[in-house]
Amino acid sequence: MYLNRLHLRHFRNYREQEIIFSAPKTILLGDNAQGKSNLLEAVELLSTLKSHRVSRDRDLVLAGETDSKITAQLTRKHGSIDLALLLRDKGRRTATVNRENLKRQLDFLGILNAVEFSSLDLDLVRGNPETRRHWIDALLFQIEPVYAHILHEYQRVLKQRNSLLKQAEHRTLDPAELESWNHQLILTGTKVIRRRVRIIDRLAPIARTWHTKISKNTEELTITYTPNVKAIENTPESIYQAFVDRLHLRRIAEQSLGNTLVGPHRDEIELTINTTPAKAYGSQGQQRTLVLAIKLAELELIEQIVGEPPLLLLDDVLAELDLTRQNQLLSVIEDRFQTLITTTHLGAFDAKWLDSSQILQVRSGKIVPQSIEELCQELGISD
Ligand code: ATP
Ligand code: MG
Repeated sequence: MYLNRLHLRHFRNYREQEIIFSAPKTILLGDNAQGKSNLLEAVELLSTLKSHRVSRDRDLVLAGETDSKITAQLTRKHGSIDLALLLRDKGRRTATVNRENLKRQLDFLGILNAVEFSSLDLDLVRGNPETRRHWIDALLFQIEPVYAHILHEYQRVLKQRNSLLKQAEHRTLDPAELESWNHQLILTGTKVIRRRVRIIDRLAPIARTWHTKISKNTEELTITYTPNVKAIENTPESIYQAFVDRLHLRRIAEQSLGNTLVGPHRDEIELTINTTPAKAYGSQGQQRTLVLAIKLAELELIEQIVGEPPLLLLDDVLAELDLTRQNQLLSVIEDRFQTLITTTHLGAFDAKWLDSSQILQVRSGKIVPQSIEELCQELGISD
């Protein structure tokens, strides 16, 4: 798939900006706090309806304005698609596909596929289990948009069940009422678990192959899904039974804590190198290699499932990879995956990155043409 055009109105620090992507690689060059990541964030929103930086739409709207609009024109195998997302300071979003307002935002997902890689992704290794659950969930949203609905349902049931358990402090719970919430928790939770199992089963071997390649056969990456509810098989019946058993086991603790302790909201995804948890690997380089392997695996998996190469968004990470890893990434991308890259300086790039690249300069929420003189200066070429 190819993103031809992006238009931002009142988005973050952009008042009004049209961006035409004219090459397989676009380098967004600019000083700090100019709007480079904001631009990638707009693409991320079109892809997942989420920003990994903020959760409130208010933060995305240009200060002093009441709404913000992201518009894009995308070419996919079966034709051209216009996407638009209207974000409001207060109130709900409006998502539009080919000028038609969608009743369900779910139908917006899976149209523009993108894999993002930023320094925040190092938290996949260093961060808490929640970070890894968010990561796998976001991948599922793109591949299987119905998952967004499933997860939302699970979270709704979880919230209601938690508020019921909290009441246990003041009154004896009605067993029938608790039973009914248990049933719903199990039904929705089972759907979440089954999909997580499936995606990790597919992703893990691809990531391992990449990791072995990048680390030159010295290290073996294992991605293991460790669900809170451990079933013998990935069948609804088996998960159902394990869920029932575990809820029974934890019932007293749940009531005394007033909180649901059983279910996929407590899942973990373990990353292990050889036999050591990746977190324990101190080296930033190793952590970066691991995340790079995961990102390459995401690209490959989305392409396999969707049947078209997704976009790749590289926020500030390229300059931090050594030249060998940069080139490995480059050989995967070729001109197949449209790639948007942000950087504060071109100097740290291998010159090969500039082939088939378009360079756009970002300055205070505006894209300004890059003069040859500026480019030469950037690259340290005089005359
Ligand atoms: P860096 O190189 O530091 O990563 P960047 O170019 O990626 O910088 P961005 O994160 O894209 O920077 O943009 C940050 C700028 O956007 C800041 O100046 C910030 O004040 C501004 N900004 C963010 N949200 C809004 C908003 N809602 N309204 C106006 N300006 C905003
Ligand atoms: Mg940035």
